[in-house]
Amino acid sequence: MRIAENIRQMKASLPAGVTLVAVSKFHPVEALREAYDAGQRVFGESRAQELVAKRKALPEDIEWHFIGPLQSNKVKDIVPFVRLIHSIDSRKLLEEVDKQARKHDRVVDVLLEIHVAREESKHGFTPEECEALLGDEAVARLEHVRVRGLMAMASLTDDERRIREEFRTVRGLFEKLRDGVCRDNASFTVLSMGMSHDYPIAIEEGSTMIRVGTHIFGEREY
Ligand SMILES: *Cc1c(COP(=O)(O)O)cnc(C)c1O
Repeated sequence: MRIAENIRQMKASLPAGVTLVAVSKFHPVEALREAYDAGQRVFGESRAQELVAKRKALPEDIEWHFIGPLQSNKVKDIVPFVRLIHSIDSRKLLEEVDKQARKHDRVVDVLLEIHVAREESKHGFTPEECEALLGDEAVARLEHVRVRGLMAMASLTDDERRIREEFRTVRGLFEKLRDGVCRDNASFTVLSMGMSHDYPIAIEEGSTMIRVGTHIFGEREY
């Protein structure tokens, strides 16, 4: 019952307007089921194969989000049902999602991942690249993807000031885009920031969607 209790506590503490994505990667179906039974309906996974398998084993009213690095050749596996892809990190990937979504007659919601962290290993666009992409008419013409906002991960550090600064940078970019190149896109409303160790800071800095795994399900076994 620990997972159920964690879900209830988290939900009770979140301000209105912040969506909780329960990051269930590497955890067994039974763990997701416990969260589901506690009322959780939004789950995030980071591998296509695992996502497809878990979806088959769990109720149909779950909203599945994809949050990890996505290979182009895996897009077709998740596009038929995925609700939101948080991790679009290249123009090529965005175009591939559009192409596959067209085949399924879907419009798939996506976020653009912004690279603000210190780590080289993190993916994503620089703020300049992101603005250029969204300002590009050819991108605006893609009919089967809808850019809902931005996603970012802060540096892995205990330095709260740095984490806050990075989230603030992304929020600033989000607002600039919303009021600028995206002003005709009324659905550009999502700012996905914050994980187990930094979500309270992310919320203070304007996050509308947090992606929390460890804090709900415990440590992952790789
Ligand atoms: C794994 C993961 C999370 C959740 O991390 P926790 O520290 O377990 O909360 C959030 N976002 C992304 C992109 C992830 O890969």
